Amino acid sequence: PLYRRLERKYQVLSSPLPALANERGPWPAAPGPRAKAAIVMLARNSDVDDVIHTLRTFEPTFNGRYRYPYVFLNDKPWSLAFRSRIVASLTKIRGAEPGAPPPDVRFGLIPTEHWSYPPHVDQAKARRCMQEMQRAGVPYAAKESYHHMCRFQSGFFFKHELLAEFDWYWRLEPDVDYFCPLHYDPFQLLVARNASYGFNILAPEFMDTIPSLSTTLESYMSAHNIPTPPPTLQLMWDNQTDTYNGLHFWSNFEIASLRWLRSAEYAKFFKFLDQTGNFYYERWGDAPVHSVAAGMLLAPHQVHYFEDVGYRHGDRVHCPAAKEKKGVYGPCGCDLEEIKSRRVWWGKWVYKDRWRNELERWRAWAAVWQ
Ligand code: GDP
Ligand code: MN
Repeated sequence: PLYRRLERKYQVLSSPLPALANERGPWPAAPGPRAKAAIVMLARNSDVDDVIHTLRTFEPTFNGRYRYPYVFLNDKPWSLAFRSRIVASLTKIRGAEPGAPPPDVRFGLIPTEHWSYPPHVDQAKARRCMQEMQRAGVPYAAKESYHHMCRFQSGFFFKHELLAEFDWYWRLEPDVDYFCPLHYDPFQLLVARNASYGFNILAPEFMDTIPSLSTTLESYMSAHNIPTPPPTLQLMWDNQTDTYNGLHFWSNFEIASLRWLRSAEYAKFFKFLDQTGNFYYERWGDAPVHSVAAGMLLAPHQVHYFEDVGYRHGDRVHCPAAKEKKGVYGPCGCDLEEIKSRRVWWGKWVYKDRWRNELERWRAWAAVWQ
């Protein structure tokens, strides 16, 4: 990525990794009961450096302690180089003693039928639409693989055979920073709260990627006698125009229930969306799709805001509020000012005021429900 090159150029180095035990005290002596959960990452062989970057921040903040299995998925066969570097890096990060069991890492190939045009899509039309959107400046519009990726993440990843034994997943992406060691198991938190979906960043959508998502959603709701908008969806609703406003859970961080995604009601909704062909004629992303599904199908208390997970991907950062205030828990490596200053492109810094308000709205809402 661009900023990585710029960082190298300016020799601005990442801050040191947080220690395994931070200011809040040591991690629990032993993890409690384990969930049937996997850490899931979709990636390409060429992402290997960025994948290792993610593992180097995710292991010390969570999984070095909890040791949930990793499942890597790819539409192309994994190279030996990718697989061996990942296993070697994890082993090194964990500082395993000789003879210790190797890390639990599984590499899966995505079946073609989960990553290709469905028969009802007119491919010539799709390509025309992609070119048109590209000219209009829609991000990733002309990248066919990106459309397959969004459709895969919306409707198929949870059907992969490597995930069949699991009920929960934590989605990772290449090139992520996790800050602040987590002192509890988020899967167990979701179980205890009877929740199905967890997020930690809300983001606006480029509305040109989803011109007809709102009307599609509305026709689904009216066909199924779902009141418009149901309580959770109100967060993402523009009351003036009575449409979906594009606000979404930024899905590159997601801790959620595979059973929910495999449920009949999610499947029915996905099928309805998919038959429009608009994963291709438009550029519907998996983030707004998951978000409106959660908004429509889940009760407010079933959506959990992981406010205490420090996170950065691309140009968006979330630092836990308590930790931003030095002297409460200490900064634990998640210091907005510091992150901004080492990201040399911070000029296009994230939340515009309009969306800051949306975030405040969510915080207030979450305070009532969680
Ligand atoms: P962005 O975060 O929306 O800007 O898009 P990314 O390029 O990060 O893609 C999102 C996720 O999908 C990342 O985990 C990528 O590694 C993965 N991804 C995107 N395109 C492909 C692809 O063609 N093949 C595979 N295997 N993974 C992909
Ligand atoms: Mn990404």
